[in-house]
Amino acid sequence: MTGMIDPFGRAVTYLRVSVTDRCDFRCVYCMAEDMTFLPKSEILSLEELDRLCSAFIRKGVKKLRLTGGEPLVRRNIMSLIRSLGRHLETGDLEELTLTSNGSQLARFADELIDAGVRRVNVSLDTLDPDRFEAITRWGKLDKVLNGIQAAKQAGLDIKINTVALKNFNEDEIDRMIEFCGENAFDMTLIETMPLGEIDQDRTDQYLPLSQLRERLEKNWTLTDIPFKTGGPARYTDVGETGRKLGFITPLTHNFCEGCNRVRLTCTGTLYMCLGQDDAADLRAPLRASEADEVLDAAIDEAIGRKPKGHDFVIERRGDGPAVGRHMSVTGG
Ligand code: SAM
Ligand code: SF4
Repeated sequence: MTGMIDPFGRAVTYLRVSVTDRCDFRCVYCMAEDMTFLPKSEILSLEELDRLCSAFIRKGVKKLRLTGGEPLVRRNIMSLIRSLGRHLETGDLEELTLTSNGSQLARFADELIDAGVRRVNVSLDTLDPDRFEAITRWGKLDKVLNGIQAAKQAGLDIKINTVALKNFNEDEIDRMIEFCGENAFDMTLIETMPLGEIDQDRTDQYLPLSQLRERLEKNWTLTDIPFKTGGPARYTDVGETGRKLGFITPLTHNFCEGCNRVRLTCTGTLYMCLGQDDAADLRAPLRASEADEVLDAAIDEAIGRKPKGHDFVIERRGDGPAVGRHMSVTGG
């Protein structure tokens, strides 16, 4: 087994899978309120998703993250998660995780632990109920906080993902670092990325994390640490809380040289880079034959086209999106 090595010598060991483009929230930076979702007929069945994920695991993926849309609103999602858990038992897969908005966590936390999931990323941009409704349009803060506590009690490690938004939650980040400290959660701050048409001008929301970090350093002792996941986050240790604080800054930093990941959509389209439109269709080869040769060849061909890097530059492009698809398609 040699694994999947791209043309720039990077081993692809991490697959993110968007299991649905649907969501029970309509976060303003992510979706338009009136979104058109994919027709159900275009979406891979759970069995097909299992087969695709298993092919990637056979080819060297060690870490699998389910995302969306909201992964936990897909009907019967636990059957996929339980089934993928078999690769944890054999040791072929090292980690099965998900990124969730938290709305369904109270219901699923125990089942997730049973299936072998040990960590979840939960997106939370504010601790203020009114602001929460404003930013998610359809979400309720209480429900998410209950979900987070249920996950904690079930024994899941939690990382909070917070999108930093100008004039929205800038003044709350200190409180959120405190909240994460009190609950033993790590936290990652995310810069807004220009993905997909939304209802607003993105340059209004854009808050450079370099600025925010300078401000945070007045209150917190942030020490850079070498912890890396192969993704765009750079981590610090927060002296006062003992927790990690990550910064995801795709627009101001280039993080591509260590990239270990590819992203699969719920229709079986593989994106080799979050910031590029180039993609490979794996649904046709998946459905072409029950044997895996055709699928394996399609995966190899796609990895052979993984680009060197992304091309996000918010200032040069004005407020239009860099790539047309929404974050809910590839799941971040
Ligand atoms: N629904 C789940 C959730 O919210 O965690 C999973 C999918 S969501 C698309 C994954 C992450 O992408 C979330 O943390 C969300 O805040 C982030 N996100 C969505 N749109 C974004 C954008 N335009 N720029 C930066 N982050 C974005
Ligand atoms: Fe849904 Fe997550 Fe997008 Fe919010 S960020 S609309 S929760 S997919």
